[in-house]
Amino acid sequence: MKIAIYPGTFDPITNGHLDIIQRASLLFDTVIVTVAVNSSKTPMFSTEERVDLIRSAIKEKKIKNVSVDSFSGLLVTFARKKKASVLIRGLRAVSDFEYEFQMALMNRKQDPKITTVFLMPHEKYTYLNSSIIREVARLDGSVRDLVPVAVQKKLKEKFTTK
Ligand code: ADP
Repeated sequence: MKIAIYPGTFDPITNGHLDIIQRASLLFDTVIVTVAVNSSKTPMFSTEERVDLIRSAIKEKKIKNVSVDSFSGLLVTFARKKKASVLIRGLRAVSDFEYEFQMALMNRKQDPKITTVFLMPHEKYTYLNSSIIREVARLDGSVRDLVPVAVQKKLKEKFTTK
């Protein structure tokens, strides 16, 4: 039984994240998508909102072997608790590499039995990240085809009530 953790801020989940989730779900028996609570970023969506949006997206795509959770503290501690031996991260471009390389090696130093696996999304998502989605939505631009339907609705709600 191979269990993989896909950690991130997911503020909010995009179709790029979802592409990685789909690929990971074909490679591992179980994938636990995990929202980071204590990231250094100040998220726009609460932990509960981010978890709910990921759950809706997974349901929308009918992906079966994926669950959603949140964590605070050391990632490898959470992974051990969940009996996971793999951490999934997405790589979009060379610009992701240095940060991801440092994180992967530090996580390996913390627990040599846990391996980081990098997956590449479809090239149509390589320019996407959550912050550009928040920015475009804030300026009332279109994020259709870039985020799940539930996220589109939530962004609309967030910016029309402001
Ligand atoms: P973090 O703050 O941990 O980087 P993110 O939510 O920004 O959280 O990203 C989580 C993971 O998903 C990272 O490995 C990131 O490289 C990857 N990722 C983000 N956007 C995309 C995308 N458009 N395509 C593929 N992977 C992505």
